[in-house]
Amino acid sequence: MSTLKDLRTLVDQLPPQESKTPLLFMGHGSPMNGIEDNEFSEYWEKLGREMTAPKAVLCISAHWFTKGTHITAMEEPQTIHDFYGFPKQLFDVEYPAPGNPALAKETAALIHKTPVGLDHEWGLDHGTWSVVRRMYPEAKIPVLQLSIDYTKGPAFHYELARELSSLRKKGVLIIGSGNMVHNLGIMNWKLTDTGYDWAIEMNEKLKSLISHGDHSPLINYETLGEAAKLSIPTPEHYLPLIYVLGLKEEKEEASFFNDKTLMGSISMTSVKIA
Ligand code: ZN
Repeated sequence: MSTLKDLRTLVDQLPPQESKTPLLFMGHGSPMNGIEDNEFSEYWEKLGREMTAPKAVLCISAHWFTKGTHITAMEEPQTIHDFYGFPKQLFDVEYPAPGNPALAKETAALIHKTPVGLDHEWGLDHGTWSVVRRMYPEAKIPVLQLSIDYTKGPAFHYELARELSSLRKKGVLIIGSGNMVHNLGIMNWKLTDTGYDWAIEMNEKLKSLISHGDHSPLINYETLGEAAKLSIPTPEHYLPLIYVLGLKEEKEEASFFNDKTLMGSISMTSVKIA
């Protein structure tokens, strides 16, 4: 099959639409949220029911952190169980959503900032499937992942994200999946339902900056003091938020859901931009 034919098929499949798809940043938390019914997963199901069904999902997951930028380009992405120490029930989950190789090629061609590799080995990691299977349990909507280049800083990712903007007019739902505050090393299992003071402070600060569209300090988060250092000790769970912010249009508004800190050092706070 030729590339040109792929692209023609895609254009037929995804005619431009009037409005842009919303953007979602999903705090995914524990992989168990993929199978447990709780306040977080129930909200993901509600989003799936209430939002217009997308033509495809493109997810930027904290769990695909690579050298260079890659996009999944296989027909049938595998379900990746990239965790350990969880019940067998979680390892048994399969989410057989199709891929869309033509959309992968088109997306790679949109990105000029860096070469994008077409990947045939990854699939859907738990940052993606734990969330998306709750939104779209029938697994009929194609799901692609775009990796996060660990050699690059937040400003690079913010600018790269902007190049994906036209996908939103084609009904592609872009999801960043991570956690705004994520420090597994100092989690406290006794604090089931709340965060440390600095985690709560950071959660509020991030929400305020996002609400005001004040992206510069969000990109330069390392300048936000001690609470930021503790909240974002490594960037992989934070950078998916940067993709979503990079795609926000001036006139769009951010709203929050699953707004909660827990286990001391995790924030589940999630953002919808529309
Ligand atoms: Zn994670």
